[in-house]
Amino acid sequence: MFIETRGNDGNRDKNVEFSHAIMNPSASFGGLYVPKNLPKIDLKFLQLATKKSYKETALDILELFDIDIEKSVLKKALSLYDDFDNKENPVALTQIKNDLFVNELYHGPTRAFKDMALQPFGHILSNEAKKLNQDYLILVATSGDTGPATLDTFSNKKNIKVVCLYPHGGTSDVQRLQMVTKNGKNLKVIGIEGNFDDAQSTLKSLLASETFKQKLESHNIKLSAANSVNFGRIIFQIIYHIFAYVSLLKQNHLSLGDKFYQIVPSGNFGNALGAYYAKKMGLPIEKILIASNINNILTDLITKGEYNLKNRKLFATSSPAMDILISSNVERVLYDKYGAKRCKEMMEQLKKEQYYKLSSEELLELQKDFSAIHCCDNFVKKTIKKFIDENYIMDPHTATCIKAYNKLREKNIPSVLCSTAEWTKFAPTMLSSINNDTKKHHDKKALKDISNSLHVKIPDSINSLFEKDILYSKVIDKKNIEKEILEFIK
Ligand SMILES: *Cc1c(COP(=O)(O)O)cnc(C)c1O
Repeated sequence: MFIETRGNDGNRDKNVEFSHAIMNPSASFGGLYVPKNLPKIDLKFLQLATKKSYKETALDILELFDIDIEKSVLKKALSLYDDFDNKENPVALTQIKNDLFVNELYHGPTRAFKDMALQPFGHILSNEAKKLNQDYLILVATSGDTGPATLDTFSNKKNIKVVCLYPHGGTSDVQRLQMVTKNGKNLKVIGIEGNFDDAQSTLKSLLASETFKQKLESHNIKLSAANSVNFGRIIFQIIYHIFAYVSLLKQNHLSLGDKFYQIVPSGNFGNALGAYYAKKMGLPIEKILIASNINNILTDLITKGEYNLKNRKLFATSSPAMDILISSNVERVLYDKYGAKRCKEMMEQLKKEQYYKLSSEELLELQKDFSAIHCCDNFVKKTIKKFIDENYIMDPHTATCIKAYNKLREKNIPSVLCSTAEWTKFAPTMLSSINNDTKKHHDKKALKDISNSLHVKIPDSINSLFEKDILYSKVIDKKNIEKEILEFIK
């Protein structure tokens, strides 16, 4: 069963099933749904998992959650991993130092880790819509990678329409092309004047707006969302952290029960929340190390206990998917640590005063599970170059984690770093890092140059983007979003 982070308003059910939480992700008082209890995994579970495939382990974990989705549907959803680079295993764990392993989560169709959750989640959600014989509008706000992954998973799905909002100028060229060239008669892509926070806050207010929902209902359409406010994504983001540990066991890099550091490049905190839940479920994580770019609001929260948006500006960095100040999933951790009443208080204070602060006891509680650090673009570029010289190519988001690896570890145990995107989505930054210049390279040429000089292949899905027709060119002010969506629905 699922309950709400800000408590119950008396108008909704106090406990809801998984299917309800994913189809109606907006909870009382603008809160989010969270599992009432997390299932436990013990060492025996982990040991048995060493004999199983990713899909088998994923199914075991989903079954522990006891969600109201039929096993056959879950199996079909997980079978979408068969189309990833390696049919046997959607992720790849690569050792790059004695005690440092990269969990490559980007081997799916849109070359970022968002596919790990959105591929199976998309199947479950559209299956549910079909079962209910109900049309759904899925809203998604993207900082670059959620958009392409959402469009891919829902393209031409029955009973589903998708509106994707991206910050104009706030994504890489490849990310933008992945969206504006995506075919599907049920899709609509809109650029907005503003940044990701603007896009996501518009999405959240539409999700919570009764009048907007009524307008949609008059066209017989219901509303849901594909951002990680939807728990349907988080559940799949727990699994790969567990599987990373199982892979370390299999490869004899640790013994059953030994602890490890989990390093996560973070923006909306969905990936990090998945690690937190995995830890609570019993995965032997020593600590979750949170990496940020100079939009370091999460670093401030975890090191100082302060979430302060006052006088804060969002900076465009070389890791655009982490250019976020209003990080949605922090709320689920606050709820988990301090309860619904305190969580609601903090979220309301943030809305009213752009600020909240943890007490010193609350901060200590948070620091039991998390440490955090941020880095600047210069560090990212130097790191990319350094690892290329050592024969490993990592994207700018992944590179932010190296600062955490260097500075935050307190014990000599293995670290697993989540690699969230393939470098091909950020070729201009990659080329500037290799050449140590500050030129504005063009994506197509940068891809080609790097591919030639480092002898690496560019996936066809990326190469072909430059030949495709642009299907959506509209960029609008955020106050016109609702109108634009209603036009599309008609
Ligand atoms: C979405 C994204 C992130 C941030 O992940 P969260 O779960 O939102 O914290 C980091 N890197 C890349 C490449 C992403 O696409």
